[in-house]
Amino acid sequence: MFPSDDPFLSDSWQTRQARSSLLAWYDRTRRDLPWRRRRDPYAIWVSEIMLQQTTVRTVLRYYERFMERFPTVWDLARAELSAVLKSWEGLGYYQRARNLHRAAGIVAQDHGNLRWPESVEEWQRLPGIGRSTAGAILSISTDRWAPILDANVRRVTGRFFGIPSAMKDDPERFWEASDSWGAENPRPGDTNQALMELGAVLCLPSSPSCGQCPVASFCATQGSGEDERAPPGQPGPAAPPGPSGKSPGSRAKKATPPTRKRVALIPASGPLLFEPRGEGRLLEGLLEVAGFPSECLSPGDTVAEGALCGWRVVEELFSVRHVYSHFREQVQVLRVVPAEGGVAMGGEGRAMEVWASLPASEGLALTGVARKIVRKLRTQADIGFLTDFRATGPTGTRETYRDLPPDPGGARSGQGR
Ligand code: SF4
Repeated sequence: MFPSDDPFLSDSWQTRQARSSLLAWYDRTRRDLPWRRRRDPYAIWVSEIMLQQTTVRTVLRYYERFMERFPTVWDLARAELSAVLKSWEGLGYYQRARNLHRAAGIVAQDHGNLRWPESVEEWQRLPGIGRSTAGAILSISTDRWAPILDANVRRVTGRFFGIPSAMKDDPERFWEASDSWGAENPRPGDTNQALMELGAVLCLPSSPSCGQCPVASFCATQGSGEDERAPPGQPGPAAPPGPSGKSPGSRAKKATPPTRKRVALIPASGPLLFEPRGEGRLLEGLLEVAGFPSECLSPGDTVAEGALCGWRVVEELFSVRHVYSHFREQVQVLRVVPAEGGVAMGGEGRAMEVWASLPASEGLALTGVARKIVRKLRTQADIGFLTDFRATGPTGTRETYRDLPPDPGGARSGQGR
């Protein structure tokens, strides 16, 4: 049953037979996905980046919209990062979007005649592209062989070749095995797509459908092998049951992630103030409602730091919570007015600030927390509770703020500008 005496023998007859069966199955059953209708490197590249840590179902909601908004690498390179982040909003892992944008700038600059990277090594020199992504882009867009090893292919490969658990932490063994699908390969790109498809629809992590698998008769384990879910460097298979028959720690409570507190400041009338999250921070480049980390503030307190330093809290509007992968955030949303002598926007050298009316703010690239705040403000404005926030007006940076219409409530008087 084992495909070869040497599981990594690249030209084994069994592997080539299995590949034929795999490709025939792929031709019959493959899902019609928008990126499979194209072969240009840009379209494949965008899809491969979106599919990192994200399901096909989710990516389907974003891919075509993104490609309409940025149809070529030139369009992406010329776009403002904020526009790219806005189109990425909801996909998560925003570093992918930042890297994609940066890499588009490099390709547009370095490959002015649109000579795309021609090897895995060249692709890997671009930000955000690892060996597997590089192999996928190259093989699918040019039909030249390059092995890949995303989570699905790693699982399929480990099971098919029966890679012993002792080798689980040896990625080179998996790369060698994955590479063996490429020998004398007439359809390199489709082979990689078929392997990914097999891992996504049949060779599932916990219950592989070996009865329907096109390579079952060549597979070393047929689902009977050890659990291949754990990638290198991650915890391995579950520990054996303890004396009670239950897995150790199976009833242990998951540790509660820490909660970070923050205040968000809403001017009593007129536009809202947003600030981009700084370089190297989580959600870098997305806009958050002006504020700062703090336990809480009460009505009558004076804001002591940040862009609205010197303003006075008049009331607490509401609070919002947001859950990140490793912490929670609780944000107290406060309405503020400028106190006498207060300044609006801190000193020189502050990062770019964006003022936007409540309706206009929905078009900005906001953090999840900022979006929750804006939606809640809109809901309250829509039912007439916060009538001041219905105001429409331009969206602008600090430089254009002074061009905004006069504030009827006078809340911006005394801003020291
Ligand atoms: S036979 Fe089963 S374990 Fe082997 S590749 Fe197919 S689905 Fe995966």
